[in-house]
Amino acid sequence: ALTLDTTWTVRWIRRSAEVLAASRAALNTLDRDIGDGDHGENMDRGFQAILPKLENLAIETTPGTVLKLVATTLISTVGGAAGPLYGTAFLKAAGAVGTAQSLDAAALVALVTAARDGIVLRGKAEEGDKTMIDAWTPAVNAAAAAQAAGSGVGALLLAAADAAASGAQATEPLVARKGRASYLGERAIGHRDPGSQSTSLLLRAAADVVL
Ligand code: ADP
Ligand code: MG
Ligand code: MG
Repeated sequence: ALTLDTTWTVRWIRRSAEVLAASRAALNTLDRDIGDGDHGENMDRGFQAILPKLENLAIETTPGTVLKLVATTLISTVGGAAGPLYGTAFLKAAGAVGTAQSLDAAALVALVTAARDGIVLRGKAEEGDKTMIDAWTPAVNAAAAAQAAGSGVGALLLAAADAAASGAQATEPLVARKGRASYLGERAIGHRDPGSQSTSLLLRAAADVVL
């Protein structure tokens, strides 16, 4: 069966940087509606800071070392809520894949599960609180179901990306119970959570770069 290697991991992060740059204004707009308007800026700054570090990676670089590089860069360059949350997600994802050279379906389930669990550990959000967890948890569930059904890595990532997209959309009618949007009460209703949207973009990028 097809597995995903360091090259895929690097392509994923490069594609994410590209998509986040293109979505910077749209993510800022979502965050302007129910937050402080900087989510696109935060994510774009963080991922742009990773790009130069992906040049001239050591030959022995593994998917885990790339994920760890992403984590440390996000933690040091992205302020606000999203930096530490995504930083923890990538750090835990790195831990979950360990020193493997390539990732099979089970490893991808472990990666997304650890990422989600890291965000929960840090931010204490539950599903339905109108946060990025509302995109991550459906993605984790879809990935696990795909693996159980014997799907390959490409189909698994597509299922996760589709579930994250639906999860992001499903934050729209919710009242927020975590983050800045929670200060708005019912005024958050009708607006999509920006972090759930960036999660959906990241997971779509992961699926899109499977060759
Ligand atoms: P800030 O709110 O500090 O400006 P960002 O705008 O970059 O940070 O990120 C906001 C996003 O962070 C929200 O849309 C939400 O998805 C996510 N978020 C905020 N608090 C939490 C939390 N406790 N748990 C999970 N996600 C959270
Ligand atoms: Mg913000
Ligand atoms: Mg902010």
